[in-house]
Amino acid sequence: MKQNGTLSNIQLNNLIDEITQLEIDEVGDAHHSTSANTPLRADAFDLTDNAKIALIEGHFREIMNVLGLDLTDDSLAGTPQRVAKMYVKEIFSGLNPANKPKVALFENKYKYGEMLVEKNIQFFSNCEHHFVPIYGMAHVAYISSGKVIGLSKINRIVQYFSKRPQVQERLTVQIAEELKVMLDTQDVAIVIDAKHMCVSTRGVQDTTSSTITAHYSGKFSEEKTRNEFLAHIYQQTNH
Ligand SMILES: [Zn+2]
Repeated sequence: MKQNGTLSNIQLNNLIDEITQLEIDEVGDAHHSTSANTPLRADAFDLTDNAKIALIEGHFREIMNVLGLDLTDDSLAGTPQRVAKMYVKEIFSGLNPANKPKVALFENKYKYGEMLVEKNIQFFSNCEHHFVPIYGMAHVAYISSGKVIGLSKINRIVQYFSKRPQVQERLTVQIAEELKVMLDTQDVAIVIDAKHMCVSTRGVQDTTSSTITAHYSGKFSEEKTRNEFLAHIYQQTNH
């Protein structure tokens, strides 16, 4: 590496590239998030969905061009437009607060005061460090403070926060915080068990591990209540 004790410009540039790459890889593997909020710019929704789709289509076409793909091929010609539409309208649609599910609250007429558990809520998200899928199950519980929501709304809230570039830790906290506000209670629990394709298909290429994150608050901070929730979600179902 050294030439008479000094580095040539080329060697210096290579060294800088190497260090920069190491730093990028480290952030990608750390999966730390700085806040529960998705980092969005203030002007994030100044453009319409259609304007975003047109811009992303152009940029994605450029990525494919750089990779050397022949975009005149029938099979590839429509890909930039398909990817752009999928990003904005489907897999990243949860970035836009306009797409947040509208949730109606009901009175808890039955005076049901035990925990309600909604388990095995399947979700698909994408890792914000590599833009490849994270998928798995979310298990959610709450104890009513007098209000209840329709069961399918819990699934919709999970899906809404999943449809963003995410880290699993932030996804867990965002769902929990939304449920606390919506249900006007601190008594909320969530466990997420997920596979990260950035771990299974690249890097360490581990296909068997899964990642579990959890958030317990209010009564779920107490061991007895938490254990009851965990027993519900990990029991074998016979139907
Ligand atoms: Zn990743």
